[in-house]
Amino acid sequence: CGIVGVLGQLEVAPRLLDALRRLEYRGYDSAGLTTLENGRPVRRRAVGKLGELVRLVAANPARGTIGIGHTRWATHGAPTVDNAHPHAAGPVHVVHNGIIENYRELRAELAGEGFACSTETDTEVVAQLAARGLARGLSPEQAVAETLSRIEGAFALAFLFENQPDLMIVARHGSPLAIGWGEDEMYVGSDALALSPMTSRITYLEEGDMAVLTRAGARILDRAGNPVSREIRSVSVESTLVD
Ligand code: GLU
Repeated sequence: CGIVGVLGQLEVAPRLLDALRRLEYRGYDSAGLTTLENGRPVRRRAVGKLGELVRLVAANPARGTIGIGHTRWATHGAPTVDNAHPHAAGPVHVVHNGIIENYRELRAELAGEGFACSTETDTEVVAQLAARGLARGLSPEQAVAETLSRIEGAFALAFLFENQPDLMIVARHGSPLAIGWGEDEMYVGSDALALSPMTSRITYLEEGDMAVLTRAGARILDRAGNPVSREIRSVSVESTLVD
C-alpha cells in the first residue's frame, strides 16, 4: 500500500524501486511499476516481496525517464500478478491505494460500453473510466477530472498516459499523497520518506486535490477544479521518521 512516481531526467526504474523499498513498512502482498520507453508503456509486476520485482526488472529492464510504482495490499481480488498494479486500459496506466466503493456499478456501466474490466480489482474501473474519457475526446486532465467525479471511496491515484512522457496526473481523497520538487524533475509518493533520497521539498496534497505534473512543476486544482497553491515544505528524513 504505497504509491511512487518519478518524472526524471535519467532512468527511473531504480529510483522507483528504491522509493518502494522505503514504503515497505506499510505492508504489501505484491508490487509493480510501469515506465514509458519512447512513449510506450513497459510494465513489470510480481507477487511477494519487493525482491521479486527487483529480480524481474533486473532480468527484463523497464527503461524510460518517467514511471509509476506500487506496493499493493489487496482489498478486492486475490494477490496475483494480474491483479497487481499498475492497471492499464487503452493508453491509461494507473496505481491506486485505497478502495473504490462503487466499483460494481461502474464495472457494469463500463462493460456495456465496451470498456470491460479484465481483473478482479476495484481499481481497474479507474483506468477504464479515464480510457473512456480519452476515447470520447477528452484531454488527459479532463478525463481524470471526470473519473474523479464518478468514483466513491478512498483513494490516492497516479496516472500515466501512453505517448505523454512529460505528464503525470495524481489525486487524493482519503489516502495520503505527497509531491516532491526536484531540479527539472518531479516526484510523487505516499509519504516524504519515499522521496527522501530525491528531494526534501514536499507539498502535501489536501483532500480532494488533483495535481498535473510535468518536469517543470505542478499545477494543483481543488475538488471544485479551481487552481490552488499549496505550501512547499522542507521535510527532513528524521522528522519524517518521527512522524
Ligand atoms: N483496492 C485496491 C486493490 O485491492 C488497492 C489496494 C491498495 O491500497 O494497495 O487492488
